[in-house]
Amino acid sequence: MKILEGKTAVITGASRGIGRAIALKFASEGANVAFSDLRYDELAESLEKEISGMGVKGKGYASDASSLQASEEFVKEVVNEFGSVDILVNNAGITRDNLLMRMSEDDWDLIMKVNLKSAFNLTKAVQSFMLKQRSGSIINMSSVVGVSGNAGQSNYSASKAGLIGFTKSIAQELGSRSIRCNAIAPGFIITEMTEKLSEEVRKGWTDKIPLKRGGTPEDVANVCVFLGSELSSYVTGQVISVCGGMNT
Ligand code: NAP
Repeated sequence: MKILEGKTAVITGASRGIGRAIALKFASEGANVAFSDLRYDELAESLEKEISGMGVKGKGYASDASSLQASEEFVKEVVNEFGSVDILVNNAGITRDNLLMRMSEDDWDLIMKVNLKSAFNLTKAVQSFMLKQRSGSIINMSSVVGVSGNAGQSNYSASKAGLIGFTKSIAQELGSRSIRCNAIAPGFIITEMTEKLSEEVRKGWTDKIPLKRGGTPEDVANVCVFLGSELSSYVTGQVISVCGGMNT
């Protein structure tokens, strides 16, 4: 039997990058996967096909994770279609980097809405279903900079630090109903988000990593499988770094 067989996972922001790798890894471990993105495009369609090719159910939805109403509607549709929600991965996230002196109020607000409020929205939407089931695993995608901070990323770092506080609080609120909540703090992972950085900045990051390489989306997906499955049944309220030792 596969590790996630019979489970339904909801993943936000999954058409590409880390979210896509999580969706594929979950499917390969037997989970049915519902995923969202701002748009339903050809990437979402190809992901659906890849997932279905593994013999499990996969469906993409266009849903803005930063909207509570859209998130509630999304989760309702998933439960109607899939019958349950066992794992939620709050993965959707964006950057609007700038030094504080140049950062606009709009860029501060947008980052808080997409990176932090989205976790509130989706967790609120799944909680009644998980409470009825008396089980569930919620995984929030934080970042190493949510712990360490980073010049030029005060909005992003604050949103990712906020996710850690949220994770620890939800773990305490829902633990008595066997609902676990953990965060992952990826370091430098090679996706479109980090490909935007200059060669010099990327080299600067990898030089600081003890394992001397950027991480892959699959490195993060493997930890999601652990946190989503019964392998981590006594793990809650924790932040697991996936950063090649960057934070040591
Ligand atoms: P990515 O390649 O830019 O993918 C982000 C995904 O989120 C995209 O599919 C994007 O959709 C989606 N998204 C954006 N806003 C959304 C919204 N409002 N509602 C629903 N979906 C939305 O980023 P990534 O590198 O895979 O990052 C995934 C997560 O890991 C993020 O939370 C990021 O902060 C975190 N993280 C990444 C790194 C890294 O080094 N890459 C390090 C630490 C943490 P569109 O395609 O429509 O834009």
